[in-house]
Amino acid sequence: MIPVTKSFLPTFEEYSAQIKRVFDNQWLTNRGPLLLELEEKIKEYLSISNIIIMNNGTIPLQIALRLLGKGGEIITTPFSYVATTAAIVWENCTPVFVDINPEFLTIDVTKIEAAITKKTTCILATHVFGNPCNVEAIEYIADKHNLKVIYDAAHCFGVTYKGKSIFEYGDISTCSFHATKLFHTGEGGALFTKDPELFHKCYYSHTFGHLGPIDYHGVGINGKISELQAAMGLSVIPYMAVILNERKKVIDFYLCHLDCEKIKTIKLVDNSNWNYSYFPIIFSSEEILLKAQKFLNDNNIFPRRYFYPSLNTIEYTKGNKMPVSESIAKRVLCLPLYVGLSEIELDKIVNLINSTL
Ligand SMILES: *Cc1c(COP(=O)(O)O)cnc(C)c1O
Repeated sequence: MIPVTKSFLPTFEEYSAQIKRVFDNQWLTNRGPLLLELEEKIKEYLSISNIIIMNNGTIPLQIALRLLGKGGEIITTPFSYVATTAAIVWENCTPVFVDINPEFLTIDVTKIEAAITKKTTCILATHVFGNPCNVEAIEYIADKHNLKVIYDAAHCFGVTYKGKSIFEYGDISTCSFHATKLFHTGEGGALFTKDPELFHKCYYSHTFGHLGPIDYHGVGINGKISELQAAMGLSVIPYMAVILNERKKVIDFYLCHLDCEKIKTIKLVDNSNWNYSYFPIIFSSEEILLKAQKFLNDNNIFPRRYFYPSLNTIEYTKGNKMPVSESIAKRVLCLPLYVGLSEIELDKIVNLINSTL
């Protein structure tokens, strides 16, 4: 079977060596030595000044929305994984969707201002598939209307924009280290903020608010990750160059061999270094997508409809119509992309798709 993705695994010996350290330390969680080491390694790798690693990529979104959303309206994208919208609703805020740009697939900044009301508190946008939003325009609008900016950067490990990590943009950025993501800890995620006061609040929010054993800074939740997961992260991070390089090769193969006259791919923004996190193709109609998907499934190949349906159409959001997002969501398919996908397999995938176009 060829799935849409396979988790990158270090050698069993490498992972065992890290797990041995956990046993030697007899320290399993609560920001232990392996987690602290992983935070340092990631800061160094991404050239960033701060990070709080958490237990997944959704809790940091919830913490960000709890601290900055304040129960108000959140301007957001309908084209993302469901966690982006669910976190807004879960935190008792109201998602207000703004349609996407048809080429970049990120929030259409020309439509944001029309969606702002007195109740708007934040803009929560996704750098979808690792393609940065128009961060300058968003910052300008947010400053003008006194709004906070949260970026769901779940897909963005290693992405830079104008020479610095994309995690450095916005008031808060979040990432996911889920097993299906480029860099992973099995389950895991992170929050980034350059504002020291906000960092302090986020930090205490993810450890029940503890200030020592008996005092509290305020209300908190459990967003901590265990040493066992940090061990996976420490074993995967040395492979980042290999992971990026192998994924690039797969994407170069697709770009070279797919019939790109008949399908569209994502347009990447200038001044950004991409991380090859996904390979979405956009068919001319849902009918052709379904035909291609069935053809691939019949041959034991399982691409995924990331992201379908458009989030404004799910039952609990009751959003306005978003013509661009709804249209793209119906026609987009993410192709298999992982380290170890062979040329023979890629050839098969490409031939099957080209033959349906
Ligand atoms: C994966 C993902 C999340 C959620 O991350 P988890 O680690 O699975 O909680 C949030 N937003 C987007 C865009 C994602 O792709």
